[in-house]
Formats: sequence, C-alpha cells, structure tokens
Amino acid sequence: MSEITFHDLPLAEPLHRALGEHDYQTPSPIQAQAIPVILEGRDLLGSAQTGTGKTAAFALPILHRIHTQPRELESKEVRALVLVPTRELAVQVDRSFEKYGAYIDFRALVVYGGVGFETQVKTLKKGVDVLVATPGRLLDLHGQGCVDLSNVKVLVLDEADRMLDMGFLPDMRRIISLLPKERQTLFLSATLGHSVQSLAKSILNDPVTVSVNPPSSTAEKIEQQVLFVRSNDKAELLAHLLKQMEEEDEAQLMLVFSRTKHGAERLVKKLHKAGIKADAIHGDRTQGAREKALDKFRAGEIKVLVATDVAARGIDVKGITHVVNYDFPNQPESYVHRIGRTARAGEEGEAITFCSDEDMNVLWDVEKMIRQPINIIKDHPYHCTDLEDLHLGRREALKKIVKQERPRRRNRGGGPVRVRKAF
Ligand code: ADP
Ligand code: MG
Repeated sequence: MSEITFHDLPLAEPLHRALGEHDYQTPSPIQAQAIPVILEGRDLLGSAQTGTGKTAAFALPILHRIHTQPRELESKEVRALVLVPTRELAVQVDRSFEKYGAYIDFRALVVYGGVGFETQVKTLKKGVDVLVATPGRLLDLHGQGCVDLSNVKVLVLDEADRMLDMGFLPDMRRIISLLPKERQTLFLSATLGHSVQSLAKSILNDPVTVSVNPPSSTAEKIEQQVLFVRSNDKAELLAHLLKQMEEEDEAQLMLVFSRTKHGAERLVKKLHKAGIKADAIHGDRTQGAREKALDKFRAGEIKVLVATDVAARGIDVKGITHVVNYDFPNQPESYVHRIGRTARAGEEGEAITFCSDEDMNVLWDVEKMIRQPINIIKDHPYHCTDLEDLHLGRREALKKIVKQERPRRRNRGGGPVRVRKAF
C-alpha cells in the first residue's frame, strides 16, 4: 500500500537521520496515513493491529514539532503527555521517543507506579517536553503538586482499548479534565469497539479517522469516482446515471447510501417518478418490509436499493455492481466501509460519490486517508465546476507543501516547518 518512503513525509532532518540509522525505510500504512494528519494539527482516531508501528506514528510528528518550535520550558510544565496502560508499555514508548529523537534536543520522562518518586519529581520540576505516564502515577504526582498539566499541547492515549479494559476510565477522565481544552488529541487503539468509540467521540475534536484493518484491501478492485454536483440536482443526476447505464445495457445492482431515513424515502419517490424501480431500507421500516426489499434486490427485481448506514450494516448481497454515496459519508472511515460493499469476492465494482458544497472537507479527508486522488467524472449535465476547481486547488497546494517541507540538506536544523496549529 505505501510505496512512499519516509522522505516523502515532511519530517525534520534529524528524524530522518535517526530513522535511517535504524533502517526504517518505508512508513507502515498507519504511519503513512497518520503522520501528515498529525502534522497538520488535527485530532486523530487511529486504529491498527498491534505491531503495526503506532508508536512512531505519533512520536515522530510530536518530535518534529518540538524540534521546529523550540522554547524554554516552564517549571513543572508538560508539552506532550502520553498515557499508556502499563509500566512495560510506558518504558517501551519512552525508549521509542529516545530512539527516534536521538538527534533532537528535548527532555522526556517516564513515570509509573511501584518505584520511588524522587528522580521523577526532580526531573518534572524542570519541565518536560514529553511525559509518558500510567494514569494512576500521574494523578498521584499531580495530587502532590509535582506536575502542571495546564499547558499540555498534545495528549496521546496509547492502547486506549486496553486502558478501558483495565478500568482506567475514571482516571483518564480526571486527567483530561486537568488539561486545556485547546490541544491536539491523538487516540490510538488496536480495536474500535463500542466503548472505545464512545470515549473517542467524547474527547476528540473533529478527528480524522485512520483505520488500517477495514476492507481497504479490496479497494483496488473498486473503481472510485467522484461527481461534483449541487445538492438540489442530486436526484436528477442519479436518475440520469441510471438511464445512461440502461441505454448502454450495463449490468447494475446499485446500493445507494442516504444520510437520513426521510432522505431515503424522498429519493425512492423521485426515482419512481422517473420510472425507475427502487426501494429503501432504513430504521423506520419494519423488519418484514426490509427483508422483502432485500429479497427483491437480490433477485434483481429492483436494481436500486436506497439505504441508511445503519440499515446497510448487516446486509451481504452478492453482485452489487455500484455503490453510490448519494449523501457523502460523515467520516472518511465509513467511506471505505461503504464502498467495500461492492467488488466482493474478487469481482469488480464501481463506487460513485456525489460531492456537494458541504462535503468538500470530508472528500479531502477521504483522499488523504486512502492516499489517492479519486477520479473526477465531469461528463454529466449537472457538473459543478467551482467545486471541482476548489478541490483541484487543494490537491495542488498539498503537492507544493510536501515538496517544500522535504528536509533541506544544507540547512541541517531542517528549518522551521509550518504547521497549522501553534504548538
Ligand atoms: P504498535 O504500537 O502498533 O504495537 P510499535 O510502534 O510498537 O507498534 O512498533 C512495532 C515494531 O515495529 C517496533 O519494533 C518498531 O521498532 C518497528 N517499526 C515501527 N515502524 C517501523 C518502520 N516504519 N520500519 C521498520 N520498523 C518499524
Ligand atoms: Mg503500541
């Protein structure tokens, strides 16, 4: 997946040097996707199995910022706080910071229970750039006035799922209440179960989700297309596409995603008016009605099934040729989930996404997440040029930034690299 090298990532030269020494050449998928997002200052919800390199995914951008935005530390201050569930992990994460930051001037400290306070307290007094801590010990130190958390700029919750399993939720909440609201939060987890997601939702601010496990591997067989269209023209555009396919005798079994139940109903009515057989499944329809609709869809009696995300979750229909994001998914991650509904079992499929005014930011996040530009289709009567121009402009701007921020060999400090949020 990631044919890019670390040098394609705009990290400071001393980091590249350390990575080179440890023979890290290619970023792992979670690193390739998360590092640019973190450098931009966005909150992150990252999930990938154990052993996929999550530590470097958050440690490298944090070290990059410490290096490019150096400043004196206040007494007891902590710039970046990394919470981990166990001592072993605390030690390991601290070592990783030392390893990747071998050529960077910074102060890190690891604190965990079961050992004396003295040295920890002494170092804390000078202030630290990075504090790696287990929740209990951190709260003890805070209770004794040894650490000031009011200036933390980045919070990392590493192995958040394990922290929840170990009953750290109240401690985590207490710690978060001591942090400034204006901060960057990075949430890493091997799994994304219900409780993990609800915790993430409550503490992350407009996060970018980077998830390496989901069916992104099938994405290669899916032809992805985006169509820029005004909201009011979407139903006509869909009808137009369906008519076109019919004329060209193209096989079709189309799953259409609608954001709301009402939207799904309205769309089905509009399609009926245009003479297209369609049905909808969503939470307001009875189980019986949903099953009937699904059966008709499976049998090919209706070619178009409109569904909300929730209703579509469990369905497994073979031979879906097209997935249409009639309404753009709210989260980049659900884009991948939705389009994974087509091209099952090695077949080919098309994913068609409608993008209106309000969807421009999510489209951008999706392209960053899947690390590829989605093919723009403008050969239709409802094409919206200004949205296309806006999007192409963003793609160009990103290319320039990545080029500019490559390490400059002559300037060994790497030079200041601009990031969106001040660190
Ligand atoms: P996770 O947090 O997902 O369990 P870690 O960050 O602990 O994964 O990394 C697992 C191992 O992979 C570590 O030994 C680490 O040094 C190594 N590693 C991480 N990223 C890379 C990379 N890009 N290239 C080579 N080795 C890597
Ligand atoms: Mg880890």
